[in-house]
Amino acid sequence: MDARKLARFDGAEHMLACPICGGALARADQRLCCPAGHSFDIARQGYANLLRNQGSQQHYDRASFAMRRRVFQSGLYDAIAHTIAELASSAVEQLETRDAEQAGRLAIVDAGCGEGFFSRAIRAACDAPLCAFDISRDSIQLAATTDPCDNIVWLVADLATIPVQTGCAACVLDIFSPANYRAFARVLAQGGCIIKAIPTAQHLKEIRQLASSRLKHDTYSNQRIIDHFARFCHIEHRCTVSTTLELDDDVRDALVAMTPMLFNVDTAGMGWAALERATVEAEIVVGVPRR
Ligand SMILES: [Zn+2]
Repeated sequence: MDARKLARFDGAEHMLACPICGGALARADQRLCCPAGHSFDIARQGYANLLRNQGSQQHYDRASFAMRRRVFQSGLYDAIAHTIAELASSAVEQLETRDAEQAGRLAIVDAGCGEGFFSRAIRAACDAPLCAFDISRDSIQLAATTDPCDNIVWLVADLATIPVQTGCAACVLDIFSPANYRAFARVLAQGGCIIKAIPTAQHLKEIRQLASSRLKHDTYSNQRIIDHFARFCHIEHRCTVSTTLELDDDVRDALVAMTPMLFNVDTAGMGWAALERATVEAEIVVGVPRR
């Protein structure tokens, strides 16, 4: 196996927890092992699958993650990624300033990382230990195979049993992805935060307008999600980040195909050629769990 891909798991014993017993997971050759004897293979692509029940329901397949990647490469999500990377770096810095003994040990956890676009952006901005996981093996395989760096820990894992040690993370990222705030709070160090990105009503408004006659709800509000977040967390920071770009044909096709708004909608005969540009807009909230 490629030594650089194995090296991603060096030092895992400071960050990873066995999903079965909670013991520290350390790399032993091409496996991750806990002191109680549970062990997990490191796949040759450079990730480990920690799911106990294999073959869980997958909402996306390989082709859809490849399309998502095409959209990410268009630049539509760059401003959001940049903002999140800055917020994550400053979360790490703040905690390290408060407790110098923690320097170099506090982790960033990307929960529901998909094909890894935001993790890679964070890695470029900050060198804290970074664990990125998703329940979809296809997405993690794509992320691990194409990741040029040797220091992101890619895992197949689920939200309820985050395979990260209690209290070791400076921040948990929850970007356009489901949340489990109790599980997030467990892995956070005292003072650590959740950084959550939520689409706004303006997000992909051009697609919403074109498809409005076929959508069940032609308006969208993120208020319920924000309210839920605020019940679990004290909100410390909020901002809205927006990007509008002209689309070329293949980005437009990929965007239409990957947009959850259009899942289960009959889009036959839609005039997508009229979709010349798209707006991507997210509200980013940073919160510290109420304890
Ligand atoms: Zn174990």
